Amino acid sequence: AKDQGKNRFLTFETQMHEQLLNRLDQEARLRDAVHRGELRLHLQPVVGVAAGQMAGAEALVRWQDPEQGLRMPGSFIPLAEETGVIVDIDRWVLLEACRAVKNWQDEDPATAPAWVSVNLSAAHLEVPDLTDQVAYALSSTGLSPHCLVLELTETVLMRDLAVTSPRLEELRELGVKIAIDDFGTGYSSLGYLRDIPVDVLKIDRSFIDGLVGNGRQQELVNAVIQLGHTLGLRVVAEGVEEASQLNLLTVMGCKFAQGYHLGRPEPAADLYTRLSTPALP
Ligand code: C2E
Ligand code: CA
Ligand code: CA
Ligand code: CA
Repeated sequence: AKDQGKNRFLTFETQMHEQLLNRLDQEARLRDAVHRGELRLHLQPVVGVAAGQMAGAEALVRWQDPEQGLRMPGSFIPLAEETGVIVDIDRWVLLEACRAVKNWQDEDPATAPAWVSVNLSAAHLEVPDLTDQVAYALSSTGLSPHCLVLELTETVLMRDLAVTSPRLEELRELGVKIAIDDFGTGYSSLGYLRDIPVDVLKIDRSFIDGLVGNGRQQELVNAVIQLGHTLGLRVVAEGVEEASQLNLLTVMGCKFAQGYHLGRPEPAADLYTRLSTPALP
């Protein structure tokens, strides 16, 4: 019986050891993914409701993992955030997104998105040379600053106002726009609408889900849209999956919508090929 206990302990220790090795291996592979060119840029259209056409696009990252295939951000962003690799990933996405959209604008201005939005993690907002990174992405690609939107969640924005506010002011002085992502899911939303300079408000998908047939929720979403417009913000409804949701949002005066009903995220090159006007022979 004594031996058994000891074995059990060893097994536990071996398991812990394996988990640790596995984690270290994942971390190393993720760190290398950026340099090995395994990241992929996907774009999802943000549609202008009135014209029914793409107005802007959101950059969403994927990892073409040689071991596991194409991976969604949910499966590697948390580890990337814990280890700081997220800063490299976000820098890559920023540059690629600016490049892709600038090229599109040059090739075919009629169908190109007028803006591209890029997600920034909490860690990235605290990197001292963030403003330089953004300035570099703009100058090296030639994308006009007002065509770039940086998306930050409420949680990120609220972490430390003393740090975030001057940082956001710096970024806005470059001419780029700031969006509040997943609006309505964090705390004290109204407080920072007063305190933080933002340009775009993205209503979280959870408010669009179940919108049809829920009068209270409709009143709420309608109020948020009006509030955003009163403050001079561009309001985008996220996660629009059905025509009925889009119809309601249109009636409420929402001008921009994003979601599977309007277009899924896809490789930037595929979206370009699909939407751009074919060159005449
Ligand atoms: P997010 O910024 O809120 O991005 C929107 C997510 O909703 C995307 O998931 C998109 O594919 C998904 N989505 C779009 N329309 C619909 C819809 O109609 N229905 C449903 N159910 N989902 C929809 P994705 O690409 O898996 O990204 C998940 C999250 O990962 C993003 O949420 C963002 O927080 C993070 N993320 C993605 N790319 C980056 C990046 O380059 N950097 C950083 N820091 N985070 C990123
Ligand atoms: Ca986003
Ligand atoms: Ca969002
Ligand atoms: Ca999110």
